[in-house]
This record gives sequence, structure tokens and C-alpha cells, in this order.
Amino acid sequence: MQITIDTHSGFCAGVTGAIRRAENELQQTGQLYCLGDIVHNGQEVQRLEQLGLETIDYDDLRTIHNARVLLRAHGEPPSTYWIARQNGNTIIDGTCPVVKRLQQRIAETYNAHKHDNPQPQIAIFGKRGHAEVIGLQGQTNNTAIVIEHISEAEHLDYERPIFLFSQTTKSLDEFNRLIEFIQAHARNSFQYFDTICRSVANRVNQLKQFAAEQDIVLFVGGTKSSNAAVLFAHCQEANPNSLFITSPDEVPDKLSTINLPTSLHSPLSTLNIKIGICGATSTPLWLMQQVADKLST
Ligand code: SF4
Repeated sequence: MQITIDTHSGFCAGVTGAIRRAENELQQTGQLYCLGDIVHNGQEVQRLEQLGLETIDYDDLRTIHNARVLLRAHGEPPSTYWIARQNGNTIIDGTCPVVKRLQQRIAETYNAHKHDNPQPQIAIFGKRGHAEVIGLQGQTNNTAIVIEHISEAEHLDYERPIFLFSQTTKSLDEFNRLIEFIQAHARNSFQYFDTICRSVANRVNQLKQFAAEQDIVLFVGGTKSSNAAVLFAHCQEANPNSLFITSPDEVPDKLSTINLPTSLHSPLSTLNIKIGICGATSTPLWLMQQVADKLST
């Protein structure tokens, strides 16, 4: 059996940065609050919680005082900074620099045009309710219109100017289709900004190529991660023998669902097959390594 871990899988730079900030803080003080899950991966959250990280929600944020609070890579709206500082808390800003730049661009566009007549629409191609999108909407005093699917673009007012941005993790193909749709309907000015993070966009092709080269693919991801769901779908497209697992414990059960040739009824480790292990931008490398170890035992 040949086991390969995809070298392109694992944390993106933004998530790595936020986790490093958390680890540094925890090393110094042994205690840190994080607003929301630092990463959409239960095992990694658990590992950091054992070091002293405490995950809190927005209600908790209103009640804690004089504490250190980490903001994760997805970013936050301005109101979160205001609430946190009101109670004397210190913000450890783990917002990914790419997201930060996007927030600033949206805020600048909003501030430059909010008094124009006719009033322009700022549209964000993204997942409604996603933390990053909430942070982006906050830059426009929550006036930005979120477009989750291209069909929703029908509801834009094409008589007014439109500025279009995208959540960093959306599909580039879909974004381009959305641009074409708006261009075909716009009767006023239309400006768009490709704000998709290439560290995710490039992964799709790399992952598909990796998956196609394997007999079986084990995709390791968290059930709360939208990036994991999207990447796994691409994986399945490239290789129907792709299995979604959240932990090494699920390996035997999941593998039993694959129709292995009858001649292969020998211990898994002696089979002449290629098993590839990959994951999302929220999947830690150590977890993929544990899956590889499980396969080897
Ligand atoms: S996907 Fe890109 S933009 Fe989003 S956190 Fe990771 S590096 Fe930053």
C-alpha cells in the first residue's frame, strides 16, 4: 500500500498565522479567549483548548472584562472591536492580512460613495452568515448586499451603480459567471474586484490532480467547514472513491464502504493500492499524519 499526504493540503497562511498568534499568547499567559472557533476543525480547537484557549461567543464577549481576546483569521466587523474595547479587553487581531485588505477596500469604497446620487450598491459574493462575510458587511454599516448564488443577482437594481467584491474563498469560475451576468444587465456603472484568495482557488486544480492519481482518497475535514465541503466535492468529482472523514477513528468503517476487488481481501497494509490523504484549509497536517499512521498499523 502506498500512502501519500497531499503537500498542498492543510492550513492556509491566514489560519496558520492566527494559530501561531494563539500559541504565542498561550505560551506567555496560559489563557486566551477566542471569539468563535479559531478554525473549523474540532481536533485542532481541542488541542489549543488544552493549552488554555477558551472559545467564546458574542454574548460572552459582552460580559468579559480586561481579558485578552483573539479575533480569528475570518475577521470581524468594526462593532466587535468596539464591544471588546468597551470592557477594557485587549484584542489580539488574528485577521488574515488578505481579509484585512479586503475589508479596507470595501470600507474605502463605501465611504467614498455613500453620499452619491443615485446611491451605489455594494454587493458581496459570499455565503450569507459566514463570519468573513459578516465582517465585510460591517464595513458598509451592513448595507452591502450578499449574493450567495448567481440567481440572486436578479434582485440588484441595475439602474444604480454596482461595486462587486467576493468573499476570499468563493469559486473563481462562479465569480466570473456572476460578473458576466451583471455586465449583461447593468444600465449604470459596474466595477468589480477579484478578491478571491489564490491560496484556496489554486487548491482546486491541485487537489483534483492529486485525487485522480489515487485509488482511494481520504479527505480529512471538519463538518462545520464550508471550505472542506467544497473541496471534498471537487475531490469526489476527480475520484469517486473519495471518502470524507473527520478523524483517524473513522478510517476502518469508511474504507469498508469501498468496493475493493475480491482478490484484495488481505490486510489493508499489504494491498497494492494507492491511498491519498488530503484535507481543507482548516485541516491540520498532524491530523492527516495520524490518518496515515492509522492506515499503516
Ligand atoms: S483562505 Fe486566503 S484569505 Fe482566507 S484566511 Fe486563508 S489565506 Fe487568508
